[in-house]
Amino acid sequence: MRPFTYERAVDAAGAVAAAARFDGGPARYLGGGTNLVDLMRLGVERPEHLIDVSRLALDCVEEVEGGGLRIGAAVRNSDLAAHPLVLSRYPVLAQALLQGASGQLRNLATVGGNLLQRTRCPYFQDVTKPCNKRRPGSGCPAVEGEHRNLAVIGHSPACVATHPSDMAVAMTALGATVSVQGPGGERTIGMPGLHRLPGDDPARDTVLEPAELITAVTLPPAAAGARSRYRKVRERASFAFALVSVAAVLRLDDEGRVGDCAIALGGLAHAPWRARRAEEALRGGPADEAAFARAAEAELAQARPLRDNAYKVGLARNVLERTLVELAR
Ligand SMILES: Cc1cc2nc3c(=O)[nH]c(=O)nc-3n(C[C@H](O)[C@H](O)[C@H](O)COP(=O)(O)OP(=O)(O)OC[C@H]3O[C@@H](n4cnc5c(N)ncnc54)[C@H](O)[C@@H]3O)c2cc1C
Ligand code: SF4
Repeated sequence: MRPFTYERAVDAAGAVAAAARFDGGPARYLGGGTNLVDLMRLGVERPEHLIDVSRLALDCVEEVEGGGLRIGAAVRNSDLAAHPLVLSRYPVLAQALLQGASGQLRNLATVGGNLLQRTRCPYFQDVTKPCNKRRPGSGCPAVEGEHRNLAVIGHSPACVATHPSDMAVAMTALGATVSVQGPGGERTIGMPGLHRLPGDDPARDTVLEPAELITAVTLPPAAAGARSRYRKVRERASFAFALVSVAAVLRLDDEGRVGDCAIALGGLAHAPWRARRAEEALRGGPADEAAFARAAEAELAQARPLRDNAYKVGLARNVLERTLVELAR
């Protein structure tokens, strides 16, 4: 690991000012460090300066007016998963968090760091190989090479990486907004919208500008009478990233039809994928297996699998259908 300097920020404004001194270059915010420090060891990340934001006063979960929930960026994943208001109002989020990483990692990982964790594409993590995300213009060996776990939707010839966060998939289905503080002031970004598709600029994972700090995530009020569920398919029962995951929220009306629904898919794209086509196909219609199958088909018709990952399309279709069947019971 290369030498670097370290400071512990006292408040958000101080953290942003410290990062801005480096003009978006060799400084990085440090949350729990569970992704960033690993990448520094591998030589993928080479910051000169770390600004520790894990102990800022951004560690609260609080109700906001109207019934939503504001979650500070420094809240640990374990604390968020166990929070009574998350368990009672947003069970899909608690389930997603508990299926991510291990207990020890969740005790360190923060909300801000989890949203901004980098892809697990094996070429990205191997500095001896080319990779457009790590070194723009060097090429994407994954397209022809090892892409079994990589994207089937929204990818480009420049990058077929997937976004790895489970938490972000649940937050996307819940319609979260992300609060950000930067040198130019504060702004909020809706989810989806924080994470980018790769296009011809895969080096940028998100729409964040240099030195922008995530300060909080706000969840809108939970829909009355809705049920929610997170299902993740992975290669082994623990410590594995999603091959495919589904976060679904479903509310039936008095006639048993789909009153409203929100669905996001993980493991399929460069960003948590809001399944708008499936949602549209479901709203106002019957809540039965045939309708769920049509909705899954409507969403996944846009998939463009690579040589070795077509299995993800059928897998996502099945997981989405089964999740909706379960919620409608
Ligand atoms: C063995 C293993 C298995 C794992 N399995 C899973 C899994 O199944 N599912 C899953 O979702 N995750 C998994 N993870 C990833 C883990 O969830 C992430 O490493 C963790 O959430 C990152 O959070 P952190 O606070 O440690 O981030 P850090 O490593 O501190 O930071 C990550 C990135 O975010 C930036 N950052 C941090 N905080 C902020 C902020 N407030 N504002 C702006 N930028 C910020 C950092 O500069 C860095 O670029 C696994 C990790 C390991 C090591
Ligand atoms: S898929 Fe993206 S991250 Fe992986 S090698 Fe290609 S450019 Fe790099």
